[in-house]
Amino acid sequence: MHKNFDITLTANEIPTKWYNFRYLLADKLPNSLNYNSDVCSSQTDIMSAIRPKALLNQDKSTNEWIDIPEEILTNLIKIGRPTPLRRAVNLEKYLDTPAKIYFKREDVLTTGSFKLTTAIAQAYYCKNEGYTGVISETGAGQWGMALALASKFYDLDCKLFMSNCSLKQKPYRKIYSSLLGADLSSSPSIDTKIGRNLLAKHPNHPGSIGTAISDAIEKCLELDNFAYLSGSNTPHVLIHQSLLGLEVQKQFDKISESPDELIACVSGGSNFGGLILPYLKSKLENNNIRFIGAESNAAPRLTEGIYEYDNSDFAGYTPKVKSYTMGHDFIPSENHVGGLRQHNGSPIIGYLKNNNIIEAQAHDEVTAFKAAQVFLETEGILVAPESSHAVATAINSALECKKNNQKKNIVFLCSGNGLLDLEGYNEVLL
Ligand SMILES: *Cc1c(COP(=O)(O)O)cnc(C)c1O
Repeated sequence: MHKNFDITLTANEIPTKWYNFRYLLADKLPNSLNYNSDVCSSQTDIMSAIRPKALLNQDKSTNEWIDIPEEILTNLIKIGRPTPLRRAVNLEKYLDTPAKIYFKREDVLTTGSFKLTTAIAQAYYCKNEGYTGVISETGAGQWGMALALASKFYDLDCKLFMSNCSLKQKPYRKIYSSLLGADLSSSPSIDTKIGRNLLAKHPNHPGSIGTAISDAIEKCLELDNFAYLSGSNTPHVLIHQSLLGLEVQKQFDKISESPDELIACVSGGSNFGGLILPYLKSKLENNNIRFIGAESNAAPRLTEGIYEYDNSDFAGYTPKVKSYTMGHDFIPSENHVGGLRQHNGSPIIGYLKNNNIIEAQAHDEVTAFKAAQVFLETEGILVAPESSHAVATAINSALECKKNNQKKNIVFLCSGNGLLDLEGYNEVLL
């Protein structure tokens, strides 16, 4: 008999309902404030004009469970869900830790990151509501790739804005998206008013997720029949990504164990939130589990930012939400973890941090990338630069278990594959 390191679920075992964290927290979360009226002439909420209704309804829903439409499930299975949970036995040996380390393999989805899970759901609702196209921003390009593919599945046009510095570092993500017919431009964009203003002030502006959101919203307001979508931050994205944690729960049930620590990298908070939120009820009732978010010290919001209202975009089109922020005009340093270069995060993650329900660790790029290198050497998988921060935190936890002789079950989320990020690893490590 050969031993299998994966705990797998069959297609028939895919969870068929999303978990909605708002069932537990709706009355505790601070409201969002209306957008900045300097930027927009009308007083109606911009988001309700440009987002699909189904997603806005999910944002408001307080039902504990939301049914996943059958057609979404079929496409999720096609792109690789449910994903395996694997035990990192070689890494455990290397660290000489009594802890067991498990990792959730979102790197195996066909576009190489977990983002595809919400992209499929969002594109489905757009098609359903008669939109002909979608428009969005993308940080490092993983969300762009996911949305480009999901748009193809549902026959929608796809327009993307990607931060200038990430676009230069990661040209392959643009090539992939272009193969699928998506139109991807750099942000700040010469095609938008906000982009031109930024470029007039800083001709070499590196761009960020914040500038790309502003470009995308301005463009969406201009075009007919295009929906504006987000790859992170919003409640509906966290609801769709709850599949990650729900799968992990089923996987631990199969081995009759349970996790003691859940770890994921954090930017907008969707892979971290997706992993931990199905466990929130149990945490609030028994305090039997630790949740640790790993962030980049290029945008250390949870460890150094302040908890206050801010816009998620540069121009102020988005409603102000209360979360940990570096300030919406913060320009993150140009590093290789494009997906973590965001000035603020989701209000739910902010609330959980402010109430000490989650913990956070920030890593510099060299530390995180070295952890990824150890993981490659031991487990044979090169993770995305973003995910390397989760690996670094998991290693810290495993070493803490070694010091205290604790046999914990540590789980980290491998949010993406790093094979399109070799240039970044080259520049930092070689
Ligand atoms: C987008 C992305 C992230 C960060 O986004 P969150 O919303 O914080 O999860 C992390 N890892 C990968 C691979 C990504 O594509």
